[in-house]
Order: sequence, then C-alpha cells, then structure tokens
Amino acid sequence: MNKPKMASEKGVPSNSRAQILLAQLEKLTGDGMVRDPEMARQITSKLLHLIQTQEKTSKEVMSKGTSGMEVILSSLESTRDIPTILNILCILSELLTLGKGRRAGVFVSKGGTAVLLRILISANKEFPPNEELMLQVHSLLAKVGPKDRKLGVKARLTGALNVTINLIKKNLQNVKLLLPCLQVLRVYSANMVNAISLGNSGAIELMFKIVAPYSKKNTSLIKVSVDALVALLKSKTNARRAVEGSYVSTLLALYLDWHRNDTWHRHTVIRKGLLACLRNVTNIKLGRRAFTKADGMRILYNSSSECLSVRTLDPLVNASSLIMRKCFPKNRLPLPTIKSAFHYQLEHVLASGPVAQRYSQPPGVDDVVDDSDDNEDTEADTENDTENEEDEKECRSLNDDIEKDINKLHPQKIPSRPYEELRVYEKFFVELSEDFQGYNFESPTTSSPAQSAQSIVVPTPQALPPNHITAPTAQNVSNASAPAPTIPPLQLETSQFGKDFNTKEEAHNQPVEQDWSQAPEYVSLNADEMRVKQKGSPISAPKPTQSPLLLEGIAIRCLAAGGGGSDCGSEGGEDEGSEGAVLEVPDTAQLLPLHDLDLYVEMVKGTKSVPHYTEVAYPDYFGHVPPTYRESLLERLYGVQRSKIFQDIERLIHPNNIMDKVVYDLDMPSCPVIESDGESLRFNSKFESGNLRKAIQIRKYEYDLILNSDINSNHHHQWFYFEVSGMRVGTMYRFNIINCEKSNSQFNYGMQALMYSVQEAISGRPRWVRTGTDICYYKNNFARSSIATGGQKGKSYYTMTFSTSFSHKDDVCYFSYHYPYTYSSLKMHLSKLEAMRAPEIYLRQDVLCETLGGNSCPFLTITAMPESNSSDHICQFRNRPFIFLSARVHPGETNASWVMKGTLEFLMGTSLLAATLREAYIFKIVPMLNPDGVVNGNHRCSLSGEDLNRQWQNPNPELHPTIYHTKSLLQYLAHTQRAPLVFCDYHGHSRKKNVFMYGCSLKETIWQSNISAASSDLQEDLAYRALPKILSQIAPAFSMASCSFVVERSKESTARVVVWREIGVQRSYTMESTVCGCDQGKYKGFQIGTRELEEMGAQFCVALLRLKRMTGLHNHQHLLDLESDLIGTQPKVVSCPTTYVMDEDEPSFLEAVDYSAESNDDDTEVDLEAAASAASIATTEDGGEVPDRLSDAESNNHDAWKSEPVTSSQ
Ligand SMILES: [Zn+2]
Repeated sequence: MNKPKMASEKGVPSNSRAQILLAQLEKLTGDGMVRDPEMARQITSKLLHLIQTQEKTSKEVMSKGTSGMEVILSSLESTRDIPTILNILCILSELLTLGKGRRAGVFVSKGGTAVLLRILISANKEFPPNEELMLQVHSLLAKVGPKDRKLGVKARLTGALNVTINLIKKNLQNVKLLLPCLQVLRVYSANMVNAISLGNSGAIELMFKIVAPYSKKNTSLIKVSVDALVALLKSKTNARRAVEGSYVSTLLALYLDWHRNDTWHRHTVIRKGLLACLRNVTNIKLGRRAFTKADGMRILYNSSSECLSVRTLDPLVNASSLIMRKCFPKNRLPLPTIKSAFHYQLEHVLASGPVAQRYSQPPGVDDVVDDSDDNEDTEADTENDTENEEDEKECRSLNDDIEKDINKLHPQKIPSRPYEELRVYEKFFVELSEDFQGYNFESPTTSSPAQSAQSIVVPTPQALPPNHITAPTAQNVSNASAPAPTIPPLQLETSQFGKDFNTKEEAHNQPVEQDWSQAPEYVSLNADEMRVKQKGSPISAPKPTQSPLLLEGIAIRCLAAGGGGSDCGSEGGEDEGSEGAVLEVPDTAQLLPLHDLDLYVEMVKGTKSVPHYTEVAYPDYFGHVPPTYRESLLERLYGVQRSKIFQDIERLIHPNNIMDKVVYDLDMPSCPVIESDGESLRFNSKFESGNLRKAIQIRKYEYDLILNSDINSNHHHQWFYFEVSGMRVGTMYRFNIINCEKSNSQFNYGMQALMYSVQEAISGRPRWVRTGTDICYYKNNFARSSIATGGQKGKSYYTMTFSTSFSHKDDVCYFSYHYPYTYSSLKMHLSKLEAMRAPEIYLRQDVLCETLGGNSCPFLTITAMPESNSSDHICQFRNRPFIFLSARVHPGETNASWVMKGTLEFLMGTSLLAATLREAYIFKIVPMLNPDGVVNGNHRCSLSGEDLNRQWQNPNPELHPTIYHTKSLLQYLAHTQRAPLVFCDYHGHSRKKNVFMYGCSLKETIWQSNISAASSDLQEDLAYRALPKILSQIAPAFSMASCSFVVERSKESTARVVVWREIGVQRSYTMESTVCGCDQGKYKGFQIGTRELEEMGAQFCVALLRLKRMTGLHNHQHLLDLESDLIGTQPKVVSCPTTYVMDEDEPSFLEAVDYSAESNDDDTEVDLEAAASAASIATTEDGGEVPDRLSDAESNNHDAWKSEPVTSSQ
C-alpha cells in the first residue's frame, strides 16, 4: 500500500493535537510499527484518549479532505502488536459510533472491512485467540457490515465465517463476546450462499441453543439470534434442515410461550422474529406439512385471535395470517371440471387451436397440484417464493413487451388483398354511390329515405359469399326449444321498425300494465310466445295485496307516458323509499326513450344462446334509469381483508360449523338444486349474459359462488350477473365469488358491485345501484393445476367478497359486476333509434355477418342526408371523411356498450352539434363485435374460446367472422383510398380509474425502448395526440395522464395496432373506460354510472367535431401545426413525457392487498433492515453468488402492488 499523505486543507489546522498524532502515526506506519511497538502504543493510546475526551477530535480525523482514516487503517494493517491493534480498534469504534452511516461508508470505501477480516483470521491463529480483540473486531464488523455489500463474500473467501461460528460455539455462556459475534453472523447470513455454508456448519442447531423460552434476561441475545435464524432459514436447504431437526414444533412452542408470557408486549420484536422463522420454514412443502402436523394452524389462529384487540400487535396477526394462508391446504374448486359448463360444438376446430388443446386434455387435469416448491430437491437455493417470481416475470415481460422491431413500427401499407376479393364489401358503402335521384328533398318528412329509397336499405345477410355465413349447428337445429325458426334472426329493415314505431303507443302500454299487475316471477320465453310464469311467485303470490298499489303506480305511469307531463329532473322523492312514493313513479318511457319492454322481448326471441335461455332478467326487461345522485367510491375499512381471511381459516379449524349445502349447480340436471325451503337463498342466472355456475351455502347467511368459464374455455371469470330471491329483510348476507382470476381488482379500491331490486323497479325506481360493504379481493386457497393453466404453474384463485342486506320482502334481486348491457338491448336500442330517426339523418343498418352462434352482427352507417341531389351536394356527401367505431369485443366490458350508446344517441340527436357532426363525417359503426360472448355471459372470449381482440392480424372467417369482416371493411376503405380519419375501439378497463386511450406512436415507442433509430423515424407528426388531448379538455371522466401511445408486442394483433399498421390509420385508438370510478376531474371520488359513461360517448363525438373544425379551416399541413398548438406549449413530443404507465396507479393500502404480513410494520429493527438491504444488493462478483432477494419489507410491499400489466385487458 502506498503511504497516504497527510492532507491539511479545508480549514483543518494541521498543527492540532490530533493532526500531530496522526502525522506521527503516519511516520511510524510500515516498518516503524514493528521496530517501535512502544511508540505505536503511545501514539494510538493518546489519540484514543483525545477522541474519547474531545468531541472535535473525531470530526478532525474524519473531516472531508483529510486522510485520517487512511492513516489509521494503514497503521492497523502494519502492526502485529496486540495492544496497538486494540487501541486502533477502539479509536475506530469511537469514530464510527458517531456520524453513523457516512463514517461507516468512508471506512468501507477505504477497505476497512478487509483489514478487519485479516486481523480476525490472524488472531484466530493464536490459541486461544485474544478475546478482547475478537470482541472488538466483531463489534466493528457488526457496525460497518451492513454498509459493505460485499462483506458476505469477503468473509466466506477469507474463512472468517468459520472463525465466527466456532467462536459462538465455544462461548455460548460468554454473553459479552456472544452478542457481537451473533450480530456479525446475522449480517453474514443475509447472503444466501453464506447461509447454506453456515447451515452446514451447524448454525441452525446453534441458534436454537440460544433462542430460549420467555425470559427477561438476555433478550437482546435472543433477539439477535432469532434474526440470524430468520436469515438462515431463508435458504431452503436450511429450512429443510430445520424441519428434519423437528424445529417446527419447537418454533411453535417458543412462539406460544412468548405470546403467553410477554403480557406487556415488550418483546413483540422477538415474537415477530419467531413468526418470520415459521414463515421461512413453511416456504417449503415439507415445512408446511410439519407445521400442519404440529397443529400450527390452530396455534396461530388462536394466538392471533387473542391479539386482534390490540392494534399494535397487528404485525403479529398479519404475519400469522400469512403463514396460515400459505399452509392452508390448496383445494380444487368444487366442480367436476373447470371447463365451461356449456360446450359449443365448433364446426371447424383448428388442431392447434386453444379449444382442441383444451378438450384433448385428460380428465381430472384440473386437479390441484401443490407444486409451488416442487423443485426443492433440485433447487440451487434461489429462494424465490412463488409470488415474487410471478411478479418479476410480469415486470420483465412488461419491459420486454415494448415493440423494438423498427419494421413493425412502420405503418405497413401492404396490398393486403386483391380488390376483387374486397369488392363484395361495396354493399356496405352504398353512400358512396347513392345519387338520391328518387328522393324528394322538398318534403322530407313524407318521404324518409330510409323508408322509401330502396337502394339505401341494405338488409344484407347475403352481402357476403355464402361460405362466410356459418350454418346453424346441429345442436341448434335439433333442439326443439330453440328460438322458433319462423322468427327472422334480426330484423333490421327500416320498414319493419317504421311500423313498430307507428304502433308503438298501444303496443307499449297494454301489455306492460298486464305484466306488472301480474308481477311475474320472471319473464319467460316459450318457443315463439312470451309467457308470464306464475308458479309460486315471490312477488305476487304470497302478497297479492301489493298489486292494487302497484296497479295504481302503473296507471299513473301510463298516464304520464301518454301525457308526457313529467320531466327527468322531477325525481326528488326517490330516496324516501316510502310506499307513498309509488304514486310519483317517474315516467320511464320518457326517461328511457330507447327502452321498450315488448320490443325487448321480441328482440330476445331472436337472440341465440348456447344454453337456449328462455328467461329474461328483470333488469333488462324493465331497463335502468340512473339515479340522480352520484355514488361515492367506497372507503375501505381497516382490516377487512384480514377478518375475511380469518373467517376462511375458521372453516378449516371448525369444519363442523360449515353447512356446505349446494343450492345452485348448473352441472346438475336438476338445477336449481334447492327449490324453496326457506333456509337458503335461491339463485338463478339462466338468462342472457348470466354466468353463475354454482352456489354453495357455507354459513347461514354466507354463500360461495362459482362463475362459469367462458364457453369452450376453462377460465376467464370476472364478469358476473345472477339473480337472488328468497331473502330475509334486514339480514346481512355475505357473498364470496371464489374463482376470480386477476391478481388485483378495483374492488380493493372503492368499487362496489351493482344490485337491481325488482321491488324497487315496480315502485318506480328501475335501476342498478352500487351496493355492498366489507368488500375485499384476495387470494384464496383454491387453485388449478399447471396443465389446466396451459403448462405454467398451478394458479391460485381469488375471492371477491361483499356483504349486503335486502330491504324488501319477497324481492327478486340481481347482482352484477357492472351495468349489464345485453345483445338484445343493443338490438332494441338500434331499432328504437331507427324508429326515431329525423328525416335529415342518413342511417343505414346492415348485418355485417352472422356469428358462430347464429346471431347477427349489426353494422351502422350514420351521416347527414345531402342538402339536395345537386351534384355539388352529392359530391360533398360522398367525400365526407369516415370515422370508424367499434365496441364490446370483450363481452365482460359492458361499460363499452354504454359509452357506445352515448355515442349513438348523440349522433342520432337533434342538436346543432350533432347535425354539424353528421354533415362533417360518415360514421361506420360496429357496436358489438362479440354478440355471442355477450349473450352467453362470457367475460372475454367468443364461442371459439378465443379472445377476439387478439385475432386481428389473421382473422379466420369461420372462427372469427365479426373480426374478419370488420377488418375487410377497413381494407376495402384503404383500398379505395378512403381509410378512416379516426378508428376507435371501445373497451372497459378493470384495474384503472377514469377513461383513457391507447394509441400508436412510432416515436414514443422508439423513445421508450431505447432502440436506435434513424432520424427519419422520428419524423412523426402529433396528429395521434390531438383527439385524446381534446377529450381530456372536454370530457370530465377522461384522463390524459393515463393514456399511452407505446406499441407493445403482446398487442400486435389487437384492433388498434392492426388498423394503425395495416390500414394506415394514424389515429387508431382503444378507448378504455373504468368499471370503477374517477380519481381526477369533476367525478373525482365517485363511482362511474351509465350517465357518465353515456356522456363520455357523447363527448367523444364533440371531440371529433373539434378535430373537424381544425381540418375544415386549414389544409392538412396546417392541421398538424394546429394540433401541435392544441397540445400545448410543448412543441416536441420528447419534451412531453410519455404516459406509458408501468404500474397500477393505485396507492397501496395500510393493509396490503395480498400477502401483507410485513409491509406496513413499524419495524424498529434498524439493524435488520440495514442488513437486509445490504444483502439485497450483494453482487455476483465471484460467480457463485446468488443475487439476494429484496428485504421482506420491500418484497411484500411490492406484492401488494402486484398486478398484471395495466394494459392487458384491452
Ligand atoms: Zn377489452
């Protein structure tokens, strides 16, 4: 080592006492120390004295710019004289005690730890080693160790590990020496390789000799050794060693002893440490088995129950809960198979497709395989717990997911298909050839084009070559109870609905009166006639006295409907809920101009479902009038998750208290299983969009519910819609949906489920309301096998739980994930819109194609009629730019339909804005891309068992007809140089708040992915940003901050990316609406309702008008500048930070969402934390090192935030 030079800058007087001593020491360093040990002793002794007595001395030595530490360290290195060494160690100890972190950091950076280890090794060669020296060295190492991330490696390489462990073995009674040795051991053990090595040297057994039952003595010793044990047991090898040594029951006994005796809770740190040991041991299957065998579940359950009342003991309860959940035996769902209860026989099954694979699996493949640590025998002690592994994978895949292939980022103007092939789609663009010669512009009211001009009406099941139309399946044909074939599947001809419109009043009123007075149990469709079922109706039969009152209500309602007297705002009395309010029934015919009960039933008849549903759910029949008040986000109570989990654990501890009574089961032919015994709720979901598969009564007022998988699939559950009846008034019921799949949910962040009460509806309040308390979403003990999940690990399910009570006797209530919007509702709304069409509106409804299930996919054209049939006007008419919209490719995202409803109503409206908009554009709209999924209660897929929004690159005309033909329409437009100005696909987002957009930007993607790109690639105009920017200014629910314009690889077959790349539409978007609510803007703090969703759809139109104004005033080049201006002061996108969001944007809870034990503890164990963080950054320098995990606190916290990539649900 070069001799360091004494520096004396920075105002430190070079002639101070300390400096003089240091200078003398420096002179001695080297041979001098050996030659003149007495002098060395004197100088170091004086220096020590000075430091101990004068505070400024240590500052002088350690001040910046001086080399005091170097001098001290080099003198320490060059001396072999024990008293001198001890003096220097004491000096260091004094210096490092103050100024904490920084000084220790300086010490480490100057190589201090290596010097200490060398002294340790050489002192160990003496026999017996100098105890004082060992004590001092270990004390110092314990102090600086956490600052040196390589200490673990150095200690192992120098052999210091063994020195320390041997020292501990020989000094079990020597508390003074034992304590620093244990502290150092704790630091060493944080390194995983060290932990294994120490385990081999008997460290586990050694720690159990020190950790003792409750005692008031030596608690610091016990605490440190428990900490060391926690670190050691993170290694699976060590955990196995502990299990084999029967230490699991020892740990439980120790914990129980401390729990019982530490009555003043002075040693919760030790208790927590013991739990942490148990937690680590139970990371291996062997450990979980031993834990269960040692009655661990009961011990921890009882002890934590006793802790519940003391809030400061929460960390103990949380830690116990975490261990219990882990050891809770994994179960398969109580189902014969997790494959969907209904199967749809596909005509064409691709051998390599998901359906073929799924159905070729051997039976019983759903069986749970608890293999979360099955690799324990081959493990190299990587020590990932399952959760974190998934986390990392997700995180990594998210970063990897950004598209980096520059070729794929360029719009790809391939001549996709020959024009001959696309020519059949000409029929969907009649407006481009229509000359309106037969149309009378003078008196348009008498000669509406949609009714008279034959050429406009294109009811076109034949629009496509026959081979594109799926024939009805054998199943459909053979079943006699299928919707009558005499009824046309979907009658979108205007003439048909013109007629309906004319006769609406009578057709509307009479049957309604009749229906409501009879108060049906449910509306039923029987073959070709709607019939009202009366058997034991809970509403009418037991209490017919209700009817007169209801009748009056209806009568009033009908009068109002005729007179049109009441107005939307007059719902003042709606919250009173008294019977008297019935007389002031709101006129739903006025409030819901697009709702028509009879028409709805007609529409249902033409809707084809795989289970052949014959019932109509009341909410869809009556319609939904949004309440006039806003519904706040639910504030989450502290400890909800924990109490729910404890109730789940209680099932295991006290199985006799569980009823386990199946009350509804689609897999049983006799479903519903329970007719009516007064002791159980009755369930039903055999109606459009319903998807309850099984209901099990667990306790008197608690039910486990299982949702059906998407048809031809074995998963995708999130959406739910079911009916409940037979309830008791005022009783709190708990519902647990136990097969949810996503790892987190907005149910943890203020969202409530929706409830619809039929009694409320017939009292004049037909509406869905947010409902439920004690709402929580957490991982449960049900799982499925790795084979069932497609070769990955077996996956756990999640429970969504909520409690609610009912306020009406003999009610029929419905629960739903989000405001339902059925396919039949869409058809009803479309025909009403058509019937109410003003003459100046050009509206055409075509059938794009038939779905696999035999339902028609509607396709709309909306624009303004030309001013006249002069060639100028016709020319303007034909040359309007196209706007192409679609929605509901994902059936569970009903919010998308409500937004679409808002868009359609606005477009068909009479406002000046709407008229201007229609004159500006031609709208082409596919309002429901996945009718089959919607009808059958799917969450994500179509009948092919596939996510249709992953098929856009190469849609199969047989399996994905709606996508195939929608894409063809766009290809046709591109081919005729008429690609739309804007393409937008409406979606719903289940894990974020607000409404926002995803778009495609070459530049922002390149920028995010850090790939090098030619400067020409960065020449991208900002047109894609204009629309979302306008929306953020005018739509209160819209949030620009949540938008993203980065192209991800996993999304390359979505509508947005394909339309951008293949069709060349720069403004190609996905618009995502929250299912929960808003955390910004006017609706901040409120859950979203249909009013807000529809408003969003209308604002989308207004935004298009603004976009048009800019294009109308300027030519295209100017437009870009204008849009840039609009975007704000930042002229370059680079200066405008991208909005690519990597994480959920939700704050974490005090009570973490998932495994939550340690994330929020008030951990006073600074030492442990420091040690853990030191360990977490240990490097792989020597190749054999295993990168250490995050500290517990960090990883658990991360856990709480764990989520799938936020964009994944589009
Ligand atoms: Zn979606």
